[in-house]
Amino acid sequence: MKILFYSIHQYDKSILESANSKNFEMQFTELSLNENTTNLVYGFDAVSLFTSDSATETILEKLFANGVRYIALRSVGSDHIALAKAKSLGMKVANVPAYSPYSVAEHAVTLLLALNRKIVFGQQLMNHGNFELDQLVGVDIHKKTVGIIGTGKIGGAFAKIMNGFGCRLLAYDLIEDQTLIKETKIKYASLEAVCQHADIISIHCPLNTFTKYLFNELVFQFMKKGMILINTARGGIINTEDLLTALDNGTISAAGLDVYENEKKIFGNDHKAKRINDDLFARLRSYPNVLLTGHQAFLTQEALLGIATTTFENLALWSEGKTCENELF
Ligand code: NAD
Repeated sequence: MKILFYSIHQYDKSILESANSKNFEMQFTELSLNENTTNLVYGFDAVSLFTSDSATETILEKLFANGVRYIALRSVGSDHIALAKAKSLGMKVANVPAYSPYSVAEHAVTLLLALNRKIVFGQQLMNHGNFELDQLVGVDIHKKTVGIIGTGKIGGAFAKIMNGFGCRLLAYDLIEDQTLIKETKIKYASLEAVCQHADIISIHCPLNTFTKYLFNELVFQFMKKGMILINTARGGIINTEDLLTALDNGTISAAGLDVYENEKKIFGNDHKAKRINDDLFARLRSYPNVLLTGHQAFLTQEALLGIATTTFENLALWSEGKTCENELF
């Protein structure tokens, strides 16, 4: 099996090479998969994609026409793939359902703590020789009510960390995790109730047709005044325009975002010398109480190794004609 890996960065190249225990013939490209890069797949049986890649229906048709039959995702999320189309073409798609949930959960906590204790702003003041404390007052996280949207692997890991902080935990999910309830005394409630009571909300559900813009103007109206919102899941779960309004009117006192709804053309690339043609993003970046990271929540050694290992396990099963349990349909 010959595999083309799209969206490869320095940080994952050597880890992928060392995880290739079956010695598959493979090629790396820094380019992401889009309408302009489908011709690279000629001669490859499989492609491996990351969240910065885009496999729309048209793109999948081109991949298929060029001989690609397998798509090994290096991510949990599959919202960047037109899965129904892949299925109708007879292509196989597998994800990495779990790697290190701690990587993302710990990043969510990092955003929360840095925002609350104004770490970035404090550093900026200090860089300018200002050691005053007046603008740096935070709150205790202890005893605050934390709402968790999606208590799967990452949301569950986040819940356990916040339980350790002594927080009261609320959750909104379609499925109640009984073990998590026993371990953390988390209480499941409606989205409305979670929003009404939580001082902090962290989003950990997938992006799909039900969760697209789950956080919008209407939901922001239920929220406790001055709450902190954290999103390390997918940008499209929050309506950014409505978020800016909620920041303006003080409903949300601070937002920590590792993801942004139109991030694909921005994150992962160096834009130092280029204008970013995205006014919504420019406005979002201009808020001093918004802390943004560029989809880096997964970026730990452990997570990268987990992603590489499972990706090659998926490819190995396919190359042996076996069914892969991580197939998405
Ligand atoms: P998971 O499948 O273990 O958990 C997802 C949870 O969301 C499940 O409990 C599910 O029941 C719940 N859910 C599904 N639909 C829902 C809905 N409509 N409303 C409320 N809850 C719903 O997935 P995970 O491993 O915990 O990952 C969660 C998400 O985190 C992924 O889908 C991905 O988008 C995102 N993620 C981001 C990064 C990053 O680097 N920023 C890395 C990995 C994953």
